[in-house]
Amino acid sequence: MKKSVKKLAILGATGSIGVNSLHVVEKLADIFQVTALSTHVNIDLLLDQARKFRPRLAAIAGAEPTAEQRRLFEQLGVTVLTGPDSPARLAELADYDLLVNAIVGSAGFLPTMSALQRHKDLALANKETLVMGGELVMSAARDNNCSIVPIDSEHSAIFQCLMGENPQTIEKIILTASGGPFRTWSLEQLRQATVEQALKHPNWSMGNKITIDSATMMNKGLEVIEAKWLFNVPVDKIQIVIHPQSLIHSMVAFSDGSIKAQLGQPDMRVPIQLAMTWPERLGSDFPRLDFCSVKSMTFEEPDLTRFRALAIACTAAKTGGTAPAVMNAANEAAVGLFLERKIKFLNIAELIDTAIQTIAVVTSPSQEELLQADRQARAFVLQHYSHILR
Ligand code: NDP
Ligand code: MG
Repeated sequence: MKKSVKKLAILGATGSIGVNSLHVVEKLADIFQVTALSTHVNIDLLLDQARKFRPRLAAIAGAEPTAEQRRLFEQLGVTVLTGPDSPARLAELADYDLLVNAIVGSAGFLPTMSALQRHKDLALANKETLVMGGELVMSAARDNNCSIVPIDSEHSAIFQCLMGENPQTIEKIILTASGGPFRTWSLEQLRQATVEQALKHPNWSMGNKITIDSATMMNKGLEVIEAKWLFNVPVDKIQIVIHPQSLIHSMVAFSDGSIKAQLGQPDMRVPIQLAMTWPERLGSDFPRLDFCSVKSMTFEEPDLTRFRALAIACTAAKTGGTAPAVMNAANEAAVGLFLERKIKFLNIAELIDTAIQTIAVVTSPSQEELLQADRQARAFVLQHYSHILR
């Protein structure tokens, strides 16, 4: 019997998740067809991908293609959209069944909303979408009858643990964290941490922003908020546990005392494939976990003093309204400054905290109010970072 083909639009195709998504497409070429791709500035890689996957539409959000690049896209029959709003326009215009959102940062929010308004399902890597506007996103998904399947490995694990379960029986979500490259560092050492040291993640190879988020542990804070919205659980029911080996990707504890965990090698292609093929689980030849070669699995409590960003995120999650959007945008701006070597590692959390303390929270924000909070927080960080350095 001929399998039906799923049409994919992949946003952030040139990034770590995007490239891995296309790797999954190559392996399952008989069931997927790529109809649209986007990049920020990596036009040459996008052209290579267009040659291979033959999309009809492409979006370039942060650069203008040269005349030669335009000619090459035209030769391939690809219509090119440009400008910061081009991923959202792509999500509005392209012909697809599933949007894979692998953009980094709050730039992924509007494309998510565009897809949901068109009743399209989502495979979501862009956690910032949910951190910024979880309430609007989840209600748009409900109203338009769309599924959002997480790509983030922890949330994919929780999603899998919850298959066939009654959500009322969730006692606790146990979100595992590797602890990042600075898990054992003292505050004094963290004060001197360099960009190179922060970019060396022990278990995962990822884009720069999420790698820095893992070093500050803001990534886990963002993931608490992501889990709160995806699984409709209060923050108090989400426990963070450090598990440096990254073999258990997360767990769910149920009301009868039973705990389910999802395990596997740390390989993002596994949760990406599941999100893209769901509700089916298809086979793969990705590396297997051999229990006999696992030396140990250890667990620790997170340290909220050394990893202040984690405490800030849990408070922002409880405050709600625009607080998580402010936190997320301040984090993006501060991580950018750290990567440009304009601030020190510990200044990242400091700037986020100051932004949250300064910018007034709007409760039940509209889409425009969320975007405004995002702009305000970025501007605040860029204007105030020099004061913090004094
Ligand atoms: P990368 O930085 O590797 O890739 C990001 C992608 O988004 C690239 O295609 C990039 O284009 C594009 N992009 C960057 N900025 C913008 C913008 N302003 N507008 C439109 N497009 C933009 O990130 P990752 O793949 O690591 O992460 C993507 C998302 O997935 C993040 O939200 C991250 O938190 C999440 N995630 C990632 C994991 C991983 O293993 N990498 C694991 C779990 C979640 P260009 O190539 O030109 O820069
Ligand atoms: Mg994760």
